[in-house]
Amino acid sequence: MSINTMFGRAVGSNVRLCVVPSLQCERSARKVILATARRKYSDYTVAPREAVVVPASGLERLPTVNILRNLLLGSLFTSPLLFRVGMTVLSGIANSRSALLNPDANPILRALVKPLVYDQFCAGTNQHEIYKTRDTIKRMGFSGIILCYGKEIQVSSSGGLHSTGRGDSNQSLEINMWRDGNLKTLDMVGEGDWLGMKLTGAGPGVTNALMKNEDPPEEFTAAMNAICDKALEKNCRIWVDAEQQVLQTAIDRWTIDVMRRYNNNGKALVYNTIQAYLKASRTKLKDQLAIAEREGWTLAVKLVRGAYIANDQRNLIHDTKQDTDNSYNGIVRDLLSGTNLGFSPENFPRVQLFLAGHNPESVARAWDLVQSLSNQNKLKVLPDFGQLQGMADELGCKVVKRCEDLEGQKSEKANVVIPKAYKCLTWGSIQECMQYLLRRIIENRGGADRMKDGMAANWAELKRRVTGGRALSR
Ligand SMILES: Cc1cc2nc3c(=O)[nH]c(=O)nc-3n(C[C@H](O)[C@H](O)[C@H](O)COP(=O)(O)OP(=O)(O)OC[C@H]3O[C@@H](n4cnc5c(N)ncnc54)[C@H](O)[C@@H]3O)c2cc1C
Repeated sequence: MSINTMFGRAVGSNVRLCVVPSLQCERSARKVILATARRKYSDYTVAPREAVVVPASGLERLPTVNILRNLLLGSLFTSPLLFRVGMTVLSGIANSRSALLNPDANPILRALVKPLVYDQFCAGTNQHEIYKTRDTIKRMGFSGIILCYGKEIQVSSSGGLHSTGRGDSNQSLEINMWRDGNLKTLDMVGEGDWLGMKLTGAGPGVTNALMKNEDPPEEFTAAMNAICDKALEKNCRIWVDAEQQVLQTAIDRWTIDVMRRYNNNGKALVYNTIQAYLKASRTKLKDQLAIAEREGWTLAVKLVRGAYIANDQRNLIHDTKQDTDNSYNGIVRDLLSGTNLGFSPENFPRVQLFLAGHNPESVARAWDLVQSLSNQNKLKVLPDFGQLQGMADELGCKVVKRCEDLEGQKSEKANVVIPKAYKCLTWGSIQECMQYLLRRIIENRGGADRMKDGMAANWAELKRRVTGGRALSR
């Protein structure tokens, strides 16, 4: 089976192939298997029972509780009525100042929200819970996790700042809290894992400096150095999230400065995020590549489509979803092959790349291209892949499965390259994480159709377990 058909709908076409093991596909597959088995039975060669094997989808590595939650929450998000009700409840919980509606303070609400919603999408509220989540993800076969400290600030259209979590009006205190939160996050990840950070988490003072495109306050630079030094010591990597456009020019500039200090000797510690939905994304990438090459450090890029379409300057964002898709896929192609970005493939600078997203077509394209360029000795960068915890599990598990399959072929085939797959988790109090979750649901709302495919895969896996197939992870 080609990779195109492994990951979802056929690349570049509207034709829906029997790819994600939907119930319908599984049923027809069973019929074919049974028919074949019956013929053989009449020949007295193969017993029919042995012939009925439901193919594993990759989801066999997901704990049963996650499958059940995927199904329950999937039904909620794919029904317009339930979605509206769910969003109203969630937004009430996320934004209420009343102790009654705060799941961290109200034990009855906690008993409902924590196992049903929080545990599906977030890492944990303390070190013990986070370690447990991290271990489960590693047992599932992922190479590691990206752990994010959830505090952030959003700028409203009137320029007001809306913060998640507790805040303080003292800039030094805010920066210290942000530094300590990130250092604590690093304490909870292992070698090879990542720290995900948002610069606005450093408080209103820093956010105002970002908005005015000023230089970072000295305390901020010192805090960033302390975080990077610790990550380096632990052999972890760091990515800096992209945020709203009013902040992004300074986020890019400040992050380039950190990359200058830490992405040396041909290795990158710090990744900057490029949002492919921006009309300027390609120009931005070309400029950053040129600066890195000129100054002799390594550019590391996390590529995303972009999360702020609902509350950002719309004219800066591609006009249609298709344009954003073309931009994302085009940038992936050009980074992997070293083309169209201001350098010849022979002189393409060293880069590192993380492909973040839930779009199966984009993952399939990237995966195919990595293997074909590698076969021709033309691959410029081996990307990492990653999804958010609790989202697109069927895609993440499939990437893991493909990586394991390739591992098995390594000794037989030359030029086999094996990407790594990660899960991105956020930690914090239940109410803080509800605010994070609200944003994620809004930005992924367009993926309802895809969620239906995902639900079909989860149903098929549940059925497989009920009828005797074993889970790999519990
Ligand atoms: C691990 C990880 C890290 C992330 N980090 C960041 C980050 O640092 N910063 C950030 O901004 N986002 C981040 N995101 C979110 C990301 O940008 C997307 O919003 C989200 O992943 C959904 O997009 P998708 O690529 O999965 O695919 P899809 O669901 O196929 O694409 C949805 C996206 O397409 C774009 N889009 C939708 N409709 C239109 C339209 N009419 N016109 C133009 N474009 C449109 C939007 O970007 C939308 O989010 C991250 C996502 C992941 C998985």
